[in-house]
Amino acid sequence: MVSNYRQDTTLIHVGSDSKEQQGFVNAPVYRGSTVLYRNIEELEAMNKDPLRRNSPTYGRFGTPASRAFESAMTKLEAGYAAVTTNSGLSANTTSLLSFVKAGVHILVADSVYLPTKMFCLEILGNLGVDVEFYRPQIGAEIESLIRTNTCLIFMESPGSHLFEIQDVPAICEVAKRHEVTTVLDNTWGTPLLFKAIQHGVDVSVHSATKYISGHSDSMLGVIVCRNESYYSSVRATAIRLGQCASADDIYMATRGLRTLSVRLKKHQEQALEIVEWLLQQPQVETVFYPPMSNHPYNNLFRRDFNGANGLFTLLLKPYNKQSVVNMLNSLELFGIGHSWGGFESLIVPVDPRCLRQYLDWDAQGEVLRIHIGFEDTNDLIEDLQKGFELLYYSEK
Ligand SMILES: *Cc1c(COP(=O)(O)O)cnc(C)c1O
Repeated sequence: MVSNYRQDTTLIHVGSDSKEQQGFVNAPVYRGSTVLYRNIEELEAMNKDPLRRNSPTYGRFGTPASRAFESAMTKLEAGYAAVTTNSGLSANTTSLLSFVKAGVHILVADSVYLPTKMFCLEILGNLGVDVEFYRPQIGAEIESLIRTNTCLIFMESPGSHLFEIQDVPAICEVAKRHEVTTVLDNTWGTPLLFKAIQHGVDVSVHSATKYISGHSDSMLGVIVCRNESYYSSVRATAIRLGQCASADDIYMATRGLRTLSVRLKKHQEQALEIVEWLLQQPQVETVFYPPMSNHPYNNLFRRDFNGANGLFTLLLKPYNKQSVVNMLNSLELFGIGHSWGGFESLIVPVDPRCLRQYLDWDAQGEVLRIHIGFEDTNDLIEDLQKGFELLYYSEK
């Protein structure tokens, strides 16, 4: 498609060409393992490209639909090329494995998604990689942690649970000077709210399970690379690992892209309304949500992000624990469940201290991660209000 349309127009058309689809608006789902060649010469020609970049050669190496989704993500992130994987976590682990070997040192933000952290500690640690966690506030001072064998910095911004926003451009500038590869888990930002590659990141990773698919009905990851060299490493690793995403999930993610921009705006609008209400409630200690001026990282958010979404974390006053459980069980509209980014509201208790090295946290209240969906906000507020009435302080 012509390249210079604005982003919202691009979202509608990217990765689809009705003339190639017998006129249908949407590209077909390609299910398949075997791809038939016309003759042996064609088979031999296909085998010459070890990265299997071009025509389909076997289901595991991609289909026209996965290529189209990857090219859409590449365009939105302004990268060189992308690789799909079967989940967001596997997109993170594949990216990490693409750039490490025994004996290297890597720097990982203390605030990353817990399963990513456990992969670094358990799998990479066992493979002889020296994993060091750093304070997410570090910014350019990360230079003091770089050693001669440091090869990678892994960021996630905002961080899971408390939404610590990192000074990504400052960290990437230091990394470039020391020839260290930078990888960022950009799931919260999506390709719309944070332009990772434009802010200096080499490899931008997404759990497309969240807002990109947007309907709680698929599992998918995608890795967007800045240039040919990063792409070759990631693609080769994905091939060696047997990474392969399902045809239906790729279809769902491509369909999700069409409405990503409107959905994010609505999520943000609804979340802002609920957060403003929450901050006025006597039961609430505080809310962690980057667009709020009380958020400790609001300046970086305003500098680097194009907007927010529907995810935030609520810290309650120190109520009796069972009364918090009763409150959560009483909610009718907030589902108790993991993940986020779908059309529905969710709530889940979290422990922000879990596996953290650099977190000052002495709050006594329960911490709840909330995702705001598209229900009427008046109904959501009434649901929370009824739940809050069940809270009481314990006698000590
Ligand atoms: C959910 C999530 C993941 C994992 O994605 P899955 O698709 O569930 O594997 C990775 N990183 C972040 C920041 C996430 O929120």
